[in-house]
Amino acid sequence: ETVESSTNRHQGVGIVGAGLVGCLAALAFAAKGYSVTLFELRSDPKTDPSSNNLRSINLAVSSRGIRALKYVDEEMADRILEHITPMKGRMIHDVTGTKQESQLYGLFGECINSVDRSFLNDCLLDEIRHSDIKLLFNHKLIKLAHLEEDSEIPSMTFIDTSLPHSEPKTFEFDYLVGADGAFSQFRYQMQKFVRMNFSQNYVDMQYLELYIPPNDDPKAESKFAIDANHLHIWPRHNFMLIALANKDGSFTSTFFSPWSVIEAIKSTEEWLAFFKANFPDAYKLMGEERLSSVFENHPRGALMQVDVYPYHTPNGRAILIGDAAHSMVPFYGQGMNCGFEDVRVLMESIDKNNGDITKSFKTYTDARKKDLNAICKLAMDNFNEMSSKVTSPWFLLRKKIDYTLGRYANGVFFTWLPLYPMISFRDDIPYSKALEIEERQHRILNGVQAGGIAAIAIFGLVKLVQAWDKFGRSHL
Ligand code: FAD
Repeated sequence: ETVESSTNRHQGVGIVGAGLVGCLAALAFAAKGYSVTLFELRSDPKTDPSSNNLRSINLAVSSRGIRALKYVDEEMADRILEHITPMKGRMIHDVTGTKQESQLYGLFGECINSVDRSFLNDCLLDEIRHSDIKLLFNHKLIKLAHLEEDSEIPSMTFIDTSLPHSEPKTFEFDYLVGADGAFSQFRYQMQKFVRMNFSQNYVDMQYLELYIPPNDDPKAESKFAIDANHLHIWPRHNFMLIALANKDGSFTSTFFSPWSVIEAIKSTEEWLAFFKANFPDAYKLMGEERLSSVFENHPRGALMQVDVYPYHTPNGRAILIGDAAHSMVPFYGQGMNCGFEDVRVLMESIDKNNGDITKSFKTYTDARKKDLNAICKLAMDNFNEMSSKVTSPWFLLRKKIDYTLGRYANGVFFTWLPLYPMISFRDDIPYSKALEIEERQHRILNGVQAGGIAAIAIFGLVKLVQAWDKFGRSHL
């Protein structure tokens, strides 16, 4: 076994996982002058295109993600943002396939943005290739060592998956960062050194990815078959379909349902009948052939929540970020945004602690926990909103009141902040604070609603008594 050390140069940081969050973390540490090595299990997508076989084709990036990209490199962020498709609201498709209703996300026209996942990952990898960061593909983490309280020089051991009989190779660094996703090996290894609370909960939900092709009618006004600037939702209570636009005119669509719903569908014919009955307009856009092929060939994805505490080792030499620390269900479109925010918060913590990383890892854990708990809870709750509440007249009335207050009550007498804009567009409000504000406003709206109902009831009662009185007198 060989040992490579990077500790004699300026401080060395070893990062595991060149997914979205690991790449941004590598760029962020490098921008601060650290010597960074980034390890990735997959092969290089430049030489092996099949390696980009990642979950979900496109993602919604919103203000927290954009702020973190800009924090690391403003010009890089601008280059990436040229390739996004803004989505100003949800477009709700009814079950007849004939009606669509737009529900705006922002108070003042703010948008979330659809971006191609592998394009984003490739952009970040390209930036890394043009930097001093050492990037090692085909490296599978198998072991962490020297993370006990009194250990100074931690190490990571990898095997090279491109070799048939790879000898384990150990690398020493001053600091280690685990960004190796929901099934993190880094986290598993860390648990040997930390009294880590850890939970992994599968939710009873699967997802299946589908595709709407670009409009091929040469006379069509747009290459998009449905409006590109909305996130399309076909809410059907305990299951739903969504679609986000891609730059080429196509849409990536995802069908979410409890496992029992998909498992009850036993044949392609039943699947087609189910799809036609519930999503008739999407059925036409996707076409029978494509739908059949998806049902027969595409894998069903599982969804889970991961909760971890603390995120760092007692010696302050290793930390977990991104999905490795907080995998969440995708219903708020915040998993990556939150992972990017982890990077910014961590870097700001390093700045505040004058470059003392050990101290920063500890303050990061203390500061971040309540925010990660809050967004994981909100992500879970939002399935109900997307799949069901968006069709309820009560919900829509409350949203109207919520958004009207948000638009006009902005600081002169009091401030009102609806939840969705706080999470997606107000990167200056931590998730936990947003949840706290929402809970307070929710109580106020409940009070107003109860007061309104009581007032209507009293008014009705008064009218009834008056009518009875009149009736009584006229019959005396
Ligand atoms: P990953 O993207 O999982 O990257 C981890 C990397 O580590 C991978 O490249 C992996 O190969 C590597 N790795 C794993 N094990 C090892 C090992 N042993 N050694 C070395 N390397 C290793 N988020 C949003 O913000 N907006 C959305 O709209 C959105 N939509 C989503 C839709 C779906 C259906 C799903 C499932 C998720 C969605 N997310 C969304 C969440 C988002 O995908 C994740 O939060 C994000 O990808 C996390 O990035 P990461 O870098 O932490 O982990």
